[in-house]
Amino acid sequence: MLVDILPSLYGILQARVIFGVGCVAKLTEEIERLGASRALVLSTPQQREVALEIAERLGSGPSSKFAGLFDRAAMHVPIEIVHEAREEARRLDADCCIAVGGGSTTGLAKAIVLTGDVASPLPILAVPTSYAGSEMTPIWEMTQDGRKTTGRDPRVLPKTVLYDPALTLSMPASLSAAGGINAIAHCVEAFYAQDGNPVISNIAEEGIRLLSASLPVVVKEPGNVELRSQAMCGAWLGGVSLGSAGMALHHKLCHTLASAFNLPHAETHTVVLPHAVAYNTPAASEAMARVAGALGVDSAAAGLYDLAVTLGARVSLEAIGMRASDLDQAADLATEDDPYYNPRPVTREGIRELLQNAFDGMRPE
Ligand code: NAD
Repeated sequence: MLVDILPSLYGILQARVIFGVGCVAKLTEEIERLGASRALVLSTPQQREVALEIAERLGSGPSSKFAGLFDRAAMHVPIEIVHEAREEARRLDADCCIAVGGGSTTGLAKAIVLTGDVASPLPILAVPTSYAGSEMTPIWEMTQDGRKTTGRDPRVLPKTVLYDPALTLSMPASLSAAGGINAIAHCVEAFYAQDGNPVISNIAEEGIRLLSASLPVVVKEPGNVELRSQAMCGAWLGGVSLGSAGMALHHKLCHTLASAFNLPHAETHTVVLPHAVAYNTPAASEAMARVAGALGVDSAAAGLYDLAVTLGARVSLEAIGMRASDLDQAADLATEDDPYYNPRPVTREGIRELLQNAFDGMRPE
C-alpha cells in the first residue's frame, strides 16, 4: 500500500518524451518547439550512417535545421573529444545538439553543456539507440588523464527525448543483453534507494517486467519491432529510476571495477547484479521480493543470474577480463572510498566474498 510507506520524497525530473516506431520523423518539429534552428548532430564513428540519415530529415537549403555532424563520440567521454565537439558547435553556430546513439553519445552532449556556456546551455534532443537510459538522467561523466569523474547536474538533462524502437533493431545481441540488464540494474537499485519513493518503485517494477519479458525474444529475433518497443520502454523506465533515485552498492561497485580494471560498462553490470542483489537481500527483503515478482521468479538474485544466462551474456568477472590477482585490490578500492548509503553495511570481508562469487560466475541462491 502506498500509504504504508509514506512519508517519502517525490521529485521526478522532466523531459518531453516522444515514443514510437517512426517518431524520429518529428525531429524538425521538436527542434522548432525549442526555438532552435541549427542542430549539431552527434554520434560515434560506428553510427555515422544512421546519424546522417537522421540529419537528412532536417531538410535542405536555407531552411534546413542541420548545422553539421560530429561523429567522434567515444566511451567514457574523453575531455579532448568534448573540447573538439564544443568548438565545432561554436564554429557552426549551433543552437542545439541532437545525440544519436547510446550512453556514450548522450554523455558527450551532456559534457558539451557542462563545459560550455552554462548560463545559456545548448538544449539537447536525445535520440537513444541503446538501453543505457542516460537520456533520462542528470548524471554526467567525463574522463581526463585516465580518471573518470561523474556528477549530477540538472542542466545536462535533455529537453526532448525521441524513443524510436526502429533505431534499436541494429543493436547486436551482446549489447542488447548486457545493456538490457544494465537497465534492469537501474530499476533494482531504485527500490531500496535512500531517497526512493513509491512512485519510482512502481516505475522500476514495470521497467523490470518489460525488460525481463522482452529481452529473451529480442536477442533471438533482433528485428522483432514489438518486443524491441517493449524493451525500449523498459529502458526508458530504467533511466527514469536511475535519474530520480540515488544508487547504492551495485552501481558504486560497478563504477569502481569498470574504471580501475578497464572492464566493459554494461557487461560489468550484468555480472555483478545477481551478486549485489544476493548481498543486499537480507537487508532489503521486501524490495527484492518485488524484484523477484517482476521477474516472475522466487529469488531475485538467482532470477537475474538465470536471465543473463538465457540471454547468452557472460556471467563471470573472469570472462569479461578481470584477473584473480586483482580481487583483493578491488575489495580495497570498493570499501576505502567515502562511505555511501546501502541497505546492508558494506564490509571489506563481505565485498571480497561477493567479488569472488562474481569472479567464479557462481549462481547465487
Ligand atoms: P555506447 O553508447 O558506448 O555504445 C556502444 C557501441 O554500440 C557504440 O559503438 C555505439 O555506436 C553502438 N550502438 C549503440 N546503439 C546501437 C544500435 N542501435 N545499433 C548498432 N550499434 C549501436 O554504450 P551504451 O551501453 O549505450 O552506454 C554506455 C555508456 O553510457 C557508459 O560509458 C556509461 O557510463 C554511460 N551511461 C551513462 C548513464 C548516465 O545516466 N549518465 C547511464 C547509463 C550509462
